[in-house]
Amino acid sequence: MTTVEGQPSPQPRKRLFVSLMGITCLIVVAIIFLAWWIPNRGLANIHPNLPHIVGLIMVVLSGTAILGTGLLVLTTALGKDLVMTRFMRLMVIKFLLPVIELVGRVIGIDKDRIRQSFIAMNNSLVISQRMKAPPDRILVLLPHCIQLSDCEIKVTGDIHKCVQCGRCTIKGLVDIGIRYAVDISVATGGTLARKVIVEKRPKLVLAVACERDLTSGIKDCYPLPVIGILNERPHGPCFNTVVDVQKIEAALRLVIHRDEQPETAP
Ligand code: SF4
Repeated sequence: MTTVEGQPSPQPRKRLFVSLMGITCLIVVAIIFLAWWIPNRGLANIHPNLPHIVGLIMVVLSGTAILGTGLLVLTTALGKDLVMTRFMRLMVIKFLLPVIELVGRVIGIDKDRIRQSFIAMNNSLVISQRMKAPPDRILVLLPHCIQLSDCEIKVTGDIHKCVQCGRCTIKGLVDIGIRYAVDISVATGGTLARKVIVEKRPKLVLAVACERDLTSGIKDCYPLPVIGILNERPHGPCFNTVVDVQKIEAALRLVIHRDEQPETAP
């Protein structure tokens, strides 16, 4: 089954992020408890009721952390916009990811595995919001390395210059761009990608890149929703990379708002 979450079966990737979220939640609750318990005896010297008041505040904070984690897990598991999905995306992107990266580093989990998991989790949240945009407000952003390195045509700036020889994935992507009438841009780096986004002002971005660039792109673009699709790197990083065009098409069909969807390519 082709999915838009970066691999045939997204569950193991999301599961890692969810597990690390659970560990982080336990650590946060433990810290909150210790922050209450250690000065507890001292607080009683200030006022006899102070330990109870501070304890109550700590219970509320711990409850919020546990409820938030539960809600996040439920939203991604059900794929539905339950409550505050946009706010949860903010929490995951801005606060949870750095903490989870730290926890992952401490327990020795590979950075890219955590990033893959984060991208799958981000995609789940974006998709669960069931956002739709017209084709002209959707931008497909590709890395430069997706073009065959010895192709003499420069597709940066205008992908339609491709003469569709079929030696790289650009051909399939041009086809999709035409069939769905969406804008497809090739960017040579993060700075150019940001420039393209500012110029085109999309409502939703579908970005193809490696784990590191997708993670930083999703963070930099917030609150703009970004669906990240990992590229494949059979020749190593940043050289003649490949993307499964069916994943791009699957993502487009989820987010595109139009009266009629084009037929899937044979
Ligand atoms: S498909 Fe397009 S971009 Fe790729 S090698 Fe052929 S002409 Fe160049």
